[in-house]
Amino acid sequence: MSTAPVHIGGPPHPVAATGEPALLDATGVEHLAANLDQARDLLTAAFAGPRTPFSGITPAESAALVGAVDLDDALGDTVAALDEVRRLYVDHAVWFDHPHYQAHLNCPVALPAVVADLLATAVNSSLDTWDQSGPATHMERHLLTWTAGRMGFGPAADGIFTSGGTQSNLHALLVARGEALARGAAQHDLRVLTTGHTHFSARTSAKVLGLAPDAVVTVATEPGGRMDPTELDRTLTDLHRQGRTVMAVVATAGTTDLGVVDPLTAIAGTCRRHQVWFHVDAAYGGGLLVSRRRRALLDGIERADSVTVDFHKTFFQPVASSAVLVADRATLRHVTHHAHYLNPHDEHAVPNQVDKSMQTTRRFDALKLWMTLRVLGPDRIGDMLDTVIDLAAQVRDDLAVDPDFAVVTGTDLSTVLFRFEESGVDAAVLDRVNREARDRLFATGMAAVARTVLDGRTWLKLTLLNPATTLQDVRRVLDLVRGHARHALADRTGPGPGGTTTGRTS
Ligand SMILES: *Cc1c(COP(=O)(O)O)cnc(C)c1O
Repeated sequence: MSTAPVHIGGPPHPVAATGEPALLDATGVEHLAANLDQARDLLTAAFAGPRTPFSGITPAESAALVGAVDLDDALGDTVAALDEVRRLYVDHAVWFDHPHYQAHLNCPVALPAVVADLLATAVNSSLDTWDQSGPATHMERHLLTWTAGRMGFGPAADGIFTSGGTQSNLHALLVARGEALARGAAQHDLRVLTTGHTHFSARTSAKVLGLAPDAVVTVATEPGGRMDPTELDRTLTDLHRQGRTVMAVVATAGTTDLGVVDPLTAIAGTCRRHQVWFHVDAAYGGGLLVSRRRRALLDGIERADSVTVDFHKTFFQPVASSAVLVADRATLRHVTHHAHYLNPHDEHAVPNQVDKSMQTTRRFDALKLWMTLRVLGPDRIGDMLDTVIDLAAQVRDDLAVDPDFAVVTGTDLSTVLFRFEESGVDAAVLDRVNREARDRLFATGMAAVARTVLDGRTWLKLTLLNPATTLQDVRRVLDLVRGHARHALADRTGPGPGGTTTGRTS
């Protein structure tokens, strides 16, 4: 789609025999300052305006640029390699800090976290055992204890950092399955209760865990998209009568599209009555733990058996940073394996995290959150999240009175679901028009919005996670969507009575 000329090739780089050290050690660290300056120069130029969230490069153009690199023929020089990385990657990356990037659950990153990531990479601790991590193990544990405390868990709580919400959910369901099997349930009778808005990783997890093909059961939602506790109760009773064992109920604190929080307190009560594992997927809504104005949205989370939190969403952390927390640390035994070389049975006094993790070698991703909390503090993180939730509410108010758009209201978090509409036009045509508007806009690189399907219809989605984005920025993006939608509609319906083929402009 892009009409922007793409610079392929460029002048050949002189291969300087700089004699740069290969490894970071006492000699390498002397060179690091110069390398960091070079990387910083690259970043400074990339962040300098005027810029767009994306260059508009097409997949084919990008594949050609990347594919032309001969990986057997080293450049031998950091400056040259950085310049190549700039041409291939940085010039065409998608920038989440740009106010016109409003598509997915990606955040601009906390500055202290970037510094921490550099340190974590340079030291290269591995969080599986004490003898590969030292105090990093205690710092990760301290953060998990802090998170559990914010959730209202008791002293028996524990958890582990993971690579993301997908893995955290899998981990929680693995543990829940272990508890159900330990109580005598049969694997093929196990069921997992979700709603139609639960993240797909619940289904993937059921597959990975080898559950029956019909193991994931959908509980009906209330009109706003939240799990209906009465329906949950009925479904649990029905499944029990059928001889099934519900190994977990998955509630969501911040659904990925609608951005709503399931009624956690009511669900907790129902789960308790039926003695069923209660998992809360707070991958998106986890940041509410530090919100000074909206913490109450998470009320009931303290009664969960397990919780997923993605720090790389609403805690403004670089990818990857997520955690799964459990109310009772004994349940983590379901992932424990004793290897002679790592955590033999006779070494229980030595702290290790590998007993609780599905990963073995594992990055010190927790250091990013540590640095962020120590520099910015929890209130500032929570304020940033509150800012984007406030903005999303303003945008929905705006859209509610805009004749060109329909909007979904009643959202708890920072998503905005909207759809270009024109009276008299078939809904299926409008589906295609909205899809095309999104694709055309992205191809220009001027802005990024997402799209999804709700009740069989195509909707466009903003996920606002940048506290620097203003209402004016969003209005600008909506005007771009409007213009592309009108053009797409005109292209579909052909020349109108006025003979125009380009459609109206905004
Ligand atoms: C993003 C998300 C996930 C998946 O998390 P990843 O970090 O992308 O693996 C799971 N659940 C919800 C509700 C999410 O929004």
